[in-house]
Amino acid sequence: MANQILIRNGTVVTMNDAGDVHFGGSVLLDGDRIADVGPADEVAARHADDGQVTVIDAANKAVLPGLVDLHYHTALGKGWSDHLPLWEYLQTCWYPIIRALDDDAAYWAALASYTESVRCGVTTVNDMYRRLDALAAAAEQVGIRAVLSNDIADGEHDLDTLADNQHAYHAHHGQAGGRIEVYVGIEWLPLASEGLLRDCRALADDLGTGIHIHLNESLTEVENAKQRFGRRPTEVAYDCGILGRDTIAAHCVWLSDTEIALMRETATQISHNPVSNAKLGNGVARVPEMLNAGLNVGLGHDAAECNNSRDLFQVMKAASLIHRATRVDASLQQAPDVLRMATRNGSAALGHQTGQLTAGHKADVILIDLHSQMFTPLMPGNADHLYSHLVFAANGSCVDTTIIDGRIVMAGRKLTTVDEPQVLHKANEAFRRVLDKMVVPGQGR
Ligand SMILES: [Zn+2]
Repeated sequence: MANQILIRNGTVVTMNDAGDVHFGGSVLLDGDRIADVGPADEVAARHADDGQVTVIDAANKAVLPGLVDLHYHTALGKGWSDHLPLWEYLQTCWYPIIRALDDDAAYWAALASYTESVRCGVTTVNDMYRRLDALAAAAEQVGIRAVLSNDIADGEHDLDTLADNQHAYHAHHGQAGGRIEVYVGIEWLPLASEGLLRDCRALADDLGTGIHIHLNESLTEVENAKQRFGRRPTEVAYDCGILGRDTIAAHCVWLSDTEIALMRETATQISHNPVSNAKLGNGVARVPEMLNAGLNVGLGHDAAECNNSRDLFQVMKAASLIHRATRVDASLQQAPDVLRMATRNGSAALGHQTGQLTAGHKADVILIDLHSQMFTPLMPGNADHLYSHLVFAANGSCVDTTIIDGRIVMAGRKLTTVDEPQVLHKANEAFRRVLDKMVVPGQGR
């Protein structure tokens, strides 16, 4: 049968319900789905080789589900003004840049962003940004799975509107065989009235789609909510119907016990972004308490502007270390749990059939080169040793091959869908052009 890929004789880390790891295992892909997973001899016995199957030799490689980056922004201005706290950074850099953005700059910025993610084994991005026509075109070209949302705020802030997001939904939701979806994206409470929040929920329900919002990111946001609304941010979001199983709430650093209970009551999905929170001086989220409450917590890099890398392996490591350091407890956030956050938890948050290697799920698979210093020593047949290396020793450069929706988008660390030197050149050009156009409030040009 055509369109089949057999990944043979690898260490298959399934991340399935049973936590199976097959040493000397195979994964068979059929079109955009996983057809079979198991010990190599068993998979071979179940499927006759008709000579039509593309075979990938996975000896000395680990085979994993692709990583899910649950809170993401396409980025144009990495490394610019990166000494400022969140509020000042947003006012003097982030908002001026995304107001000056044009379609061409958004397109090349998205290509540069998505290709870095693919290089680091990320197969799904939950991307809140502007100019979704350009983003959808970039996602379609790269071949990445993308949930796109606008950056809705009250009109006086000159960002996106409900109508922008509605247009994007009708234009792109379901594009590329369902690989591209559109959610309703809300910037954050300091730029939103309660009326706008209620309208966003009404639009999401009307379209039958989800919501992506920044929530409880900084102490300044909490103080802003108390002053303007007389309540904490999650309480306002709850009252306006924003919370729910179809909502991705990013950050959630400063949750009170009451707010954690509201997240639990509404089964809201959380994206934990420890590197961004640390870099911007926003604090450390109460992840142990969230997990104890039964919340589903995935991981995000946030944006290259507040992380400086789209490497989710680095985020995994931080998502363990930051809690161990602040709680003085080395038992917290063990490697398999963190890897679960970066795969199946993120997938579950988005309602996707990805994040695990299980027959019937989508064919989003990465191969990791174990023949390197990062994975040495490695005890044969020892899953715990491998999990430890994946979370604590590896970085994104260990990813050899990235397959999304059954299509090989990177092989042997070479991208197959884009002209990479052109992408880098154009993204640099776009950055300089947008900087030239951007207007910083109080400073003129
Ligand atoms: Zn963000």
